[in-house]
Amino acid sequence: MNKKKQVFDIFVYALMFILVFGFLIYAGRFNAFGKFVGSMEFKTFDIRQNLILSNKKSNKNIVIIAVDDPSYEYITEKFGTWPVPRSFWAKLINGLEVAKPKFIAFDLLFTKRLGALDEGDLQLIDAVKNNQNVYLSMNFDNYPYQIRIAPNLPDRLKINVENGDIIKNSPFLHFTNCRKAMDELLDVTSNFGFINVTRDDDGIIRYIAPMFYYKGAYYPNLTTAIALNYLGIDAKSIYVKNNTLILDSNYKIPLNPDGRATINWYGKEGTFEHISLWQVDDAINRNDTKFLKEKFENKIIYIGTTVTALADIKSTPVSFMYPGVETHATFLNNILDNSFIIHSSFKSDIIIAAILCFLIGFCILKLESVPYSVLCSLAIVVIYLIITVFAMEYFNVWLGIILPLFSSTLIFIAAYITKYLLKSKDYEHTYKLAVTDGLTEMYNHRYFQEQMIMNVGNVARYGGNFSLILIDIDFFKKFNDKHGHQSGDAVLRQVAQTIKRNVRTSDIACRYGGEEMSIILTNTKKEDAVTTAKKVWNAVREKKFELADGSWANVTISVGVATMPDNGKNPQELIEFADKCLYKAKQNGRDQVVSEI
Ligand code: GH3
Ligand code: MG
Ligand code: MG
Repeated sequence: MNKKKQVFDIFVYALMFILVFGFLIYAGRFNAFGKFVGSMEFKTFDIRQNLILSNKKSNKNIVIIAVDDPSYEYITEKFGTWPVPRSFWAKLINGLEVAKPKFIAFDLLFTKRLGALDEGDLQLIDAVKNNQNVYLSMNFDNYPYQIRIAPNLPDRLKINVENGDIIKNSPFLHFTNCRKAMDELLDVTSNFGFINVTRDDDGIIRYIAPMFYYKGAYYPNLTTAIALNYLGIDAKSIYVKNNTLILDSNYKIPLNPDGRATINWYGKEGTFEHISLWQVDDAINRNDTKFLKEKFENKIIYIGTTVTALADIKSTPVSFMYPGVETHATFLNNILDNSFIIHSSFKSDIIIAAILCFLIGFCILKLESVPYSVLCSLAIVVIYLIITVFAMEYFNVWLGIILPLFSSTLIFIAAYITKYLLKSKDYEHTYKLAVTDGLTEMYNHRYFQEQMIMNVGNVARYGGNFSLILIDIDFFKKFNDKHGHQSGDAVLRQVAQTIKRNVRTSDIACRYGGEEMSIILTNTKKEDAVTTAKKVWNAVREKKFELADGSWANVTISVGVATMPDNGKNPQELIEFADKCLYKAKQNGRDQVVSEI
């Protein structure tokens, strides 16, 4: 019995699992569901990034020169407009070079001009030409040819990515057009990178592409280009293997299936030192070499706009707004520290979900107490959530939360429903045992008494009739003596079956005691009760009963019938009347139905 129950429980678990995961897989086919799970998952990523932020240290060799709000004001004051003349940038480069920085990277575009080269253009070209640590940027896009003919880019800018199909095939990284830098700049340097960023549906930047694909070739991100140079890695030797961009044996960038890397953020705005452009210009104008050396010697400098008026402000997981240039600084820091976030796959999330569901289901079905089982399920979920934070902090792994949590919730509900069903089934079983006679499987005497009281009550209150039939097997003592008790029992069971088969489902057939049986006929007049009694009497009479030894025998019954209100107004009086009828039947030679005395 216990084994049987265990097998049943396991069967129920299995069924719940199949239901929950069947649902998940079914729902997974719908884009909307995937998007819903994805966007919720993003939020959990953001929360985790914020939680572990304070324990991360950013690289102090990376600094940002920000065209911030005060600088914008300073520039418009000085030049009357943005963009500033290119002579300004030429002077900035030359001024910064005094401090001997490692690199100066522009997260600003120097695209084509109208008309001839002016003095400022020439100065910028010279500054870039003379300082080969200056990096410039370009931008890919998908503008149609009618707007701009897609330019060819010099072979020097191309990068060789072995096995790069993941980049080539990514809808995010495959471009058909490009906003090229000024040709004269392209002529004097090969230090170019691309600054495309991709935002998620909620406008937040969580991923960055190390490489792009354009017109049959691969091109580096601005920061990838700088990192390769900084680390002394040959750009021709990099390759993709197992969804990882391998720069060399020490530096690897894990890629998502779409070819982008997941950025690991370092801090709120200002983690990397931000120096306002106006302060730098001011220091250069004052020849403040001390200030410049202190801030920029040996540093990798990113120059970009953070000014709200120029709208190059992007949302990131860890602060309300970040300048785009901060994304690049963070990307470089991730490369140098090998600290990219690695996404757990859908498959491993499903496995985690299955484990959580198993534990929670087990917990709920095994623990009797509801508060304990709820607490236990909550504890399982909380422990998992803590694990996900630690996994991100110490192993840079982004374990899925939404899918496991979603399925855990479903299992939680399903487990309680199952538990309730199992319990009510248990209750039904116990109740059935309590009102059933073991030998004949008819209702027992206790149930008979309850039903008598109920029917008497109903008729007394609402009027109408109900009838009682008492049945006694004739000469059963003799029958036992002749054929043995075993055969007597067999006949009792078969008489019970015969009775049940010949009454309505609303009629209540009971074992009154010994070889006596009773039938309560709700809403039944005497006439109809007598008809039923005769039907039963005749059925027993006609039937051949199989005995324990396989032989056959006949038995007969005597039957008494009483009806409320005609023959009594309470259970005792009705039973007494039926009993008297029965006695009369016995007196008159047995094997008959009697309904009057
Ligand atoms: P009658 O009713 O025709 O007057 O004669 P009877 O022999 O049937 O009457 P009595 O009440 O004297 O005996 C009832 C017998 O029924 C006694 C007992 O041997 C038998 N009996 C009662 N309960 C069971 C049972 O559960 N199993 C078997 N095999 N016999 C039973
Ligand atoms: Mg008897
Ligand atoms: Mg008898």
